[in-house]
Amino acid sequence: MEVTEGAVTIDVPEQSGEGVEGEVFFNTEQELNRDLTVAALRAYREREPRAETYLDATCASGIRGVRAAADGWDATLVDRDPAAVALARENLARNDAAGDVLHDDANAVLWDPEDAYDVVDLDPFGTPAPFLDATFANARDLVCVTATDTAPLCGAHFASGVRKYQTTPRNTEYHAEMGVRVLLSAMARSAARFDVGVAPLLTHATRHYVRTYVDLTHSASAANDAVDALGHVYHCPECLWREHERGLRADRPDACPHCDGTNLLTAGPIWLGATHDDAFCEATRRHLDDDMGTRERAADLLDTLSGELDRPTHYDQHKLYGRWSEPAVGMDEFLAALRDAGHDASRTHYGGTTFETDASVGEIRDVAP
Ligand code: SAM
Repeated sequence: MEVTEGAVTIDVPEQSGEGVEGEVFFNTEQELNRDLTVAALRAYREREPRAETYLDATCASGIRGVRAAADGWDATLVDRDPAAVALARENLARNDAAGDVLHDDANAVLWDPEDAYDVVDLDPFGTPAPFLDATFANARDLVCVTATDTAPLCGAHFASGVRKYQTTPRNTEYHAEMGVRVLLSAMARSAARFDVGVAPLLTHATRHYVRTYVDLTHSASAANDAVDALGHVYHCPECLWREHERGLRADRPDACPHCDGTNLLTAGPIWLGATHDDAFCEATRRHLDDDMGTRERAADLLDTLSGELDRPTHYDQHKLYGRWSEPAVGMDEFLAALRDAGHDASRTHYGGTTFETDASVGEIRDVAP
């Protein structure tokens, strides 16, 4: 079938949805992710004009790399599946977009210092973990990652999360944020091996995936700064009290200070630093254009992100009221009550009833209408 996204039109096989062997992957649901990629790459080029080369390391039909190439990037697309490589080549040619398509394993390309790219984009099936070391070994400026394995990331598939991300994820009611912070933790630790520091410019958890864009600084001190942003979250599953603390060692007692005898869940080391940069989100928003099919959704998401208080960890207002056995009130009224009491408070992009605040769960209870 023919698909038009942004300024390009490509051929993709009709999807059976069964993940059939030999079928090149394409997911229309990821259009928002790809529209944001094009806008974020434009915003990045504005801030780093010498960035020119872009590697779509797991390209499938080539849609992402073709869109980057059509937007002026010197793009290289890679896939280990020969059918994907053939299709990506056709799609590049069909759009008169200059670029190379390599039939290779992404890790082989990424580990090769002769093939260093300014921007590396990872969008494999499921976890990006097997590609992180090779990516940070040679990427120059920006690394963009999609992870679709949300159950391991958020701790719902605990053992798998521990294996893939070498940290302790915990299944809490802020599961999407847990996924964001587990992924960023693994990326920070992987980059630090190569004396590279990561700074997230834009991160969103949308439906069944996490997407992040991290800016790289090549120095041991920047890598140390990123490691310093790691720490633990202590969470009470009973009263939803939680606290976070930086540091690689978890040294809190097991019991919740508010519920006698309830064991705390400890997650970490996870990323406790900022997950986005407001100015970059605003710049990305300016680079959305009318060709983009998800322009309005992308703009709403970026607006919410720019206004989001960027601290761990968010609450879900409906879940709190559920615990208190009271009917929830409107979000605007609720947030106004927190602000009137002197707390910072914002909506978050994680869901319509989610919010972030510097108030503790006890303080929220005291001022909630
Ligand atoms: N980025 C694409 C898009 O936006 O439509 C989707 C990519 S699809 C989810 C993942 C692709 O990664 C598949 O085509 C698969 O063949 C490829 N892949 C998986 N592991 C790979 C590896 N080690 N090296 C190269 N390609 C790989």
